[in-house]
Amino acid sequence: GDILRTENVMKTYMSGEIEVTALHKINIAIKKGEFTAIAGPSGSGKSTLLNLLSGLDRPSNGKVFIDQRPISDMSGNQLSDFRRDHIGFIFQSYNLIPVLTVKENIEYIMLIQGIPEGERAERVNDVLKDVGLTTMGNRRPAQLSGGQQQRVAIARAVVSRPSIILADEPTANLDSVTADNLIDMMRSLNETKGITFLFSTHDKRIMDHSKRLIILKDGNIDSDT
Ligand code: ADP
Ligand code: ADP
Repeated sequence: GDILRTENVMKTYMSGEIEVTALHKINIAIKKGEFTAIAGPSGSGKSTLLNLLSGLDRPSNGKVFIDQRPISDMSGNQLSDFRRDHIGFIFQSYNLIPVLTVKENIEYIMLIQGIPEGERAERVNDVLKDVGLTTMGNRRPAQLSGGQQQRVAIARAVVSRPSIILADEPTANLDSVTADNLIDMMRSLNETKGITFLFSTHDKRIMDHSKRLIILKDGNIDSDT
């Protein structure tokens, strides 16, 4: 089955007295192992869509399913538990916890999930290798470059083995070489471990690194190739 699916998802905002339709009836299905970029010009609805897919916001109409469960129908508490176990998040601004070390940032969700200490330590070491940061485990985020911080964020997102990794413009704050490297690293995790990624971007060069490209235009899917 699909890891993620939307059914006629629609989103409107009120802008004063005027209703703005940010997304028309969007139907998307993502299978395990996909590596998909959502692109489109500014204002086309990328952030709105990512927010709906990740449960940060609710559709005005239609449904979002992750692992066959309708997240758009869940209560707040149900949803936050579900998100923690099923979705990995990567943010534009990294969102690492500044007082924690790299290792502690990565370990945090597994602690909440009750994963035993030995297993946590093993997974942290493995994932630090995967993202090329084995020597950085005891540093704090402020001691790392932006690209390194985003690699920690990727490690944190995948370490709890969610079904899908969602990222809204993960390379927006990085220079283009660093951005390319970061996408290559996500792609390599996708190829070697079958981890499913879905991210939005407005960077043409990053679109070329995706396996599937969905382009939004004025809140509609303009192309899906
Ligand atoms: P993108 O991420 O592709 O730039 P957005 O999803 O941010 O596009 O925006 C899609 C449309 O919805 C735009 O017309 C934008 O102005 C509108 N929009 C987004 N968020 C809000 C909001 N909170 N209130 C009103 N309008 C919004
Ligand atoms: P295990 O061998 O512990 O049963 P899996 O077979 O699920 O683990 O996955 C093999 C490897 O791929 C593991 O090392 C794990 O880190 C990685 N992996 C698999 N699925 C995911 C995922 N969704 N997110 C992150 N890593 C994953």
